Amino acid sequence: MEKKITVLPGDGIGPEIVAEAVKVMDRVAARFGHHFSYTYVDIGGCSIDRHGVPITEEGMALCKGADSVLLGAVGGPKWDSCPAEIRPEKALLAVRKELGLFANLRPTRLFPQLASASPLKQEIVGQGIDLMIVRELTGGVYFGARKTEEVNGELVATDLMPYSEHEIERIGRVAFETAMKRGKKLASVDKANVLETSRLWRKTMHRLAEEYPEVEYSDILVDNTAMQLIKNPVQFDVLVTENMFGDILSDEASMLTGSIGMMPSASLSSGTLGMYEPIHGSAPDIAGQNRANPIGTILSAAMMLRYSFDLAQEADAIEEAVNRVLNEGWRTGDIMQEGCKKASCSEMGDLIAGKI
Ligand code: NAD
Repeated sequence: MEKKITVLPGDGIGPEIVAEAVKVMDRVAARFGHHFSYTYVDIGGCSIDRHGVPITEEGMALCKGADSVLLGAVGGPKWDSCPAEIRPEKALLAVRKELGLFANLRPTRLFPQLASASPLKQEIVGQGIDLMIVRELTGGVYFGARKTEEVNGELVATDLMPYSEHEIERIGRVAFETAMKRGKKLASVDKANVLETSRLWRKTMHRLAEEYPEVEYSDILVDNTAMQLIKNPVQFDVLVTENMFGDILSDEASMLTGSIGMMPSASLSSGTLGMYEPIHGSAPDIAGQNRANPIGTILSAAMMLRYSFDLAQEADAIEEAVNRVLNEGWRTGDIMQEGCKKASCSEMGDLIAGKI
């Protein structure tokens, strides 16, 4: 298989972690007989420095024309005082919008070897956690009209939370299809006891559920979900929810895994084009020191193979390689445990590539 990948290393630790993911992808290509070609594009602060904008039009076109996009991270203190319209994060939102990336998949996986790194008790996380949050990414209150106006002599602020049936249906389909590829269990998170958008959400999900009789479907209120994620996270397989609930719940869930450096993500469009990135930021405190954990980015590359290229065996090979390296006791600084062996960012990439 031949694939064109646009690579956006970005700022801080971005270039370091992306280099390790590319190393692992190259090993996969050699092992399974594929050819991946990479086009590098500046994004975020480095692009502001070189081109005066967080991403150039040419760079955006290279993202749109690729088979898939791999991102490191953007931002850092150097660009914190940039005017709002050219801040590094602007480029990320622009890429998501231009590429129509409406579905955000965040797997939350706690490798059992790292259970002691989770803030939860062993009896809750000791078996390992493996759940997937499917978050709607381009609708709801983050994109609705907002205003602040004076009413009866005081300021009143309003944020609208619109959702149309087609927006709910397309994210619902992604969630049901994801559940079909995993444990065939889907919980749809809403606040249907209060919100009109949630009632439409629930009605649309129930209609879709009839098309997927193999999926064990349930509704769950968002407040209860927040509690259950801490009380009994192993009960979940796939969770689907709207934009803001997903934003909050996925950050809560990320803490179950111990280190933010372990967490990958995928943002998907209605076609096969997607953007894949670790959930963490550019970690300026450890940038340039070869200390970052590249596993979140390497697992993001595995998601690219699985979701954009339909290469499940190759994705499994990466995930299994990570598992074996952790089993052998190798750890980057953020997940270091007593009795384990310390690896730098590039050593961790070498170790994982070596197991493919
Ligand atoms: P951060 O995720 O960059 O770092 C938080 C903490 O986690 C730091 O102590 C960092 O050293 C550590 N950490 C993060 N990733 C790690 C890894 N792979 N290995 C080891 N340790 C890791 O969050 P922050 O410090 O709040 O933000 C730094 C910059 O990143 C800001 O400019 C922010 O706007 C930006 N940011 C970008 C993205 C993105 O590009 N998607 C996401 C979040 C934040």
